[in-house]
Amino acid sequence: MNSPHTDVAPRIIHAADELRRVVTAARRAGKTIGLVPTMGALHEGHLSLVDAARRDNDLTIVSIFVNPTQFGPNEDFANYPRTLESDLDLLAGRGAQLIFAPRTDQMYGPGHATHVEVDGPALRLEGAFRPGHFRGVATIVLKLFNLASPDRAYFGRKDYQQSLVIRRMVADLDLPIHVEICPTVREADGLALSSRNRYLSPEERPRARSISESLRLAARLVEQGTRDAATLIARMSDVLRAADLKLDYVALADPDTLEDVSVVDGPTVALIAARLGKTRLIDNEVIG
Ligand code: AMP
Repeated sequence: MNSPHTDVAPRIIHAADELRRVVTAARRAGKTIGLVPTMGALHEGHLSLVDAARRDNDLTIVSIFVNPTQFGPNEDFANYPRTLESDLDLLAGRGAQLIFAPRTDQMYGPGHATHVEVDGPALRLEGAFRPGHFRGVATIVLKLFNLASPDRAYFGRKDYQQSLVIRRMVADLDLPIHVEICPTVREADGLALSSRNRYLSPEERPRARSISESLRLAARLVEQGTRDAATLIARMSDVLRAADLKLDYVALADPDTLEDVSVVDGPTVALIAARLGKTRLIDNEVIG
């Protein structure tokens, strides 16, 4: 296992073949490898995954790559925050040993023509609102798995549907990797940390709190005996609309299949995607 907190500058690798060499040497030395895939603009949510990976593995690799194939044509790929210098400082403070930060042309060379298509849990919700998104996610995650050959890979529950899609892919393609899903890290007022929160204006930021409030309301209503999904969704939507958010979806779904439920009579995931001005935020909570 890792030595405790080191604060040594992590090694940064840009080239895939160099990553392979380092990983092969680590494997020969009998080290276990943990991988934390990210798109950078790091915050405590990402760093909680790094902490978990360091706890469980000898070598922790954090990838930083803003993956173009998971953004739609009208989405924020060009403007997505890129903050490599401060990301590296944060990672040094958390003892990550290896950062993989490839250039786009290294991950998608000329003529790249292969993609991973996941159906099942990828089809609804984010899959419906962001066509091609999970295809891009699954493709880049499989490539990172192949390059880093981790024993364990760490993802956040914040992206609930993504975690199901990755688990599905790992099971279906017989990948020898444990997928670890870590709890959502939140601001003091409940807003889930997200790289996109920095898009919020000072006027929008307090209104964003309504997303976690809406999820907490659903949990409370279920505890108090409300089971009808349509009623719960209406109450959740009221909270969001009162803060003038535009709703993409408010859903109550089976936590494994993401099929809609009509009655909450067991563990159920409440999922929200909503827009504040130009910023699109998602969040979820398992209730019931
Ligand atoms: P991203 O950089 O947005 O692609 O996120 C990289 C990883 O960090 C994904 O597995 C996310 O689910 C996870 N993540 C993002 N925000 C949070 C959060 N607030 N709490 C826990 N994990 C998070």
